[in-house]
Amino acid sequence: MTDLPVIPPHLLPEDGRFGAGPSRVRPEQLGALARAGTTLLGTSHRQAPVKDIVARIQERLAEFLGLPAGYEIVLGTGGASVFWDSAAFGLVRSRAEHLAFGEFGAKFASVTDRAPFLERSVVLEAPPGSRPEGPRILPDVDVYAWPQNETSTGVAMPVRRVVADDALTVVDATSAAGGMAVEIAETDVYYFSPQKNFGSDGGIWFAAFSPAALERVERLSASGRWVPDVLSLAAAVENSRKHQTYNTPALAGLVMLDEQLGWLLEQGGMPWAAARTAETSGLVYDWAEGSEHARPFVADPAHRSPVVCTVDFDAAVDAARVASVLRANGVLDVEPYRKLGRNQLRIATFASVPPEDVRALLRCIDWAVGELA
Ligand SMILES: *Cc1c(COP(=O)(O)O)cnc(C)c1O
Repeated sequence: MTDLPVIPPHLLPEDGRFGAGPSRVRPEQLGALARAGTTLLGTSHRQAPVKDIVARIQERLAEFLGLPAGYEIVLGTGGASVFWDSAAFGLVRSRAEHLAFGEFGAKFASVTDRAPFLERSVVLEAPPGSRPEGPRILPDVDVYAWPQNETSTGVAMPVRRVVADDALTVVDATSAAGGMAVEIAETDVYYFSPQKNFGSDGGIWFAAFSPAALERVERLSASGRWVPDVLSLAAAVENSRKHQTYNTPALAGLVMLDEQLGWLLEQGGMPWAAARTAETSGLVYDWAEGSEHARPFVADPAHRSPVVCTVDFDAAVDAARVASVLRANGVLDVEPYRKLGRNQLRIATFASVPPEDVRALLRCIDWAVGELA
């Protein structure tokens, strides 16, 4: 039991999950899971039923992303964080450059920077809430990397290919894919975990690889550089072509991802998803701009993420207390990124979150602020 105020039920959203990952799973995804209960779950991932679902996910991702000719959908277990280690071994030839304007971009930078077989990384930083101008082209850099959406701060970065000789553009789309528009031809590797806009489970990564990225993987693999087996991108590419993973994937996550991709395509694919997140994030930013107590954390409207909205509060409002009231009433995960240490709420407006739930959430926040005043 709790002594926190009880929000009047008519103000509450239908679904109270607004977290930036894991994020809300739609009931239809659970329905798909139940249907797969006795036919697919608990069966071999080396047999047709699971290989077929992996193949369908690859096809649907290709359709959703508008995959250019020659690109391939590659997957592997472990998620985006594990992909960083794989990339250090299998994508970076000698030096990477990173744009680091929050936790996730900085973490990947730290991985390549510390790899003993690579040169020290070039890291272009910007304070949380802002972003660097863009990559700086340097002669010895062979991978340029940044997140399309920095989930820890709610700052979005354009995805435009770095035109430099024999260099790859590698984009972390973990919280962007499925909710933000992208031109895949502007990237060589566009990678993500599916527990954000795709509302599935973590522990696996997917990526669109360009022909140049596939060639880089092949060359580095042939170069004799030692790679732990589970991190080998060459093995991931080889297995993905057979709709497999090197080791056993979580089957439930595949079912939920497949269902979400089918739903997104039925709604209108990437243009629909991007329009929806523009609308739902717009509700949050407009509300924050108009609020007496709150304002968008990201000062420049052009840098504001359409999928992760960060809102700062005046000292008069205890944002952590507001989040506690919401949590006690089943409205979950609007706490800010822990290491940011701000008087803030963070609201994910991923593709599965409908505008009416965002409106209800904002009503609940206003109500809680009033109640705590
Ligand atoms: C969530 C997130 C990650 C980490 O994903 P894991 O699946 O936990 O490894 C990496 N990058 C970004 C941008 C994220 O939002």
